[in-house]
Amino acid sequence: MSVLDTINEKINKSNSILILTHENPDGDAIGSSLGLYNALKKIEKKSTVYIPVPDKTYSFLPGFNEILMGDSLPNASDYDLVVTLDTSDLNRLGIAQSFISDIEDSICIDHHITNQNYADVNYINAVASSTSENIMVVLASMGIAINKETGECLYTGILTDTGGFRYSCNPETMEMVATIMETGVNISKIYRTIFDVTTFNRTKLRGICIDRLELLEDGKIAFTYVLLDDLNKLELDESDCEGIVNIGRDIDTVEVSIFAKEREDGSFKLSLRSNNYVDISVSASKFGGGGHVRAAGCEINMTLEQIKQMIVDEIKKQLKNEEKTEE
Ligand code: 5GP
Ligand code: MN
Repeated sequence: MSVLDTINEKINKSNSILILTHENPDGDAIGSSLGLYNALKKIEKKSTVYIPVPDKTYSFLPGFNEILMGDSLPNASDYDLVVTLDTSDLNRLGIAQSFISDIEDSICIDHHITNQNYADVNYINAVASSTSENIMVVLASMGIAINKETGECLYTGILTDTGGFRYSCNPETMEMVATIMETGVNISKIYRTIFDVTTFNRTKLRGICIDRLELLEDGKIAFTYVLLDDLNKLELDESDCEGIVNIGRDIDTVEVSIFAKEREDGSFKLSLRSNNYVDISVSASKFGGGGHVRAAGCEINMTLEQIKQMIVDEIKKQLKNEEKTEE
């Protein structure tokens, strides 16, 4: 039986499904979760999305208010199937990790090349732009037609993981968007809500990061950071840092952009991006993280200075390797 057939069978025979995604969920994490949730609702299949801290940017999505939030975990015994989305390894599930062993059956749907295949059934298509795109495939194989609610969620996932259709798009991506548009989704409105509308304090935070921006290695590496103190003063949280890594990435000389964000426990979350030739997932993996060729991340518990030195040294090596390959 194919993986898609097995997924179809497991979902069909399940009575109650728990949908999980990674910590600090982005648009694809929330979009794919709510996309699946709305599709299951349509076929009257009971499911719950649990996300401890969902980014309020996505509160316009249908089903957002029904997400189980906060530190009070759902009851494992209430579910017979857990579906994890956009989550490459168990650690990325944060406090929800135990559900993989505590719930009878598990499915993972993801598009990360670094996926660890930790579930009973794993549908990992790394060619897809996003997990939301993979959900479209799963739903099609189950014979579930997309409705407007599901479409809004999956469009949001595809839109955010392709940086507004800048990268990772395949012809299939565009065909899926066409299918979504036919359900009546207002794609312009969602685009503007996600990429253009911001707040005064978020704009101030970007200003701080631009002020701190440094270029290294003849302008090939960009580095900037946010401290907890900055967030506290501006009454912002981690989710307000979305997109800051692109400030460095968009500079003409830059190949790799590094953005470090201080966490409550004093560690730093690194967002890494490359433009043309560095496989940045390699560097992220060396520090216990992972991700994609052009977008990856990791978490390091050291001082900012130590982290900067370590990651810059590592990326310098990769830049040199690439130069050798080009010769
Ligand atoms: P972001 O910089 O937007 O947080 O993450 C960029 C990409 O890297 C995402 O696709 C995300 O899944 C991956 N990523 C970020 N942080 C981690 C991490 O700590 N571990 C792993 N395995 N992947 C990460
Ligand atoms: Mn994704």
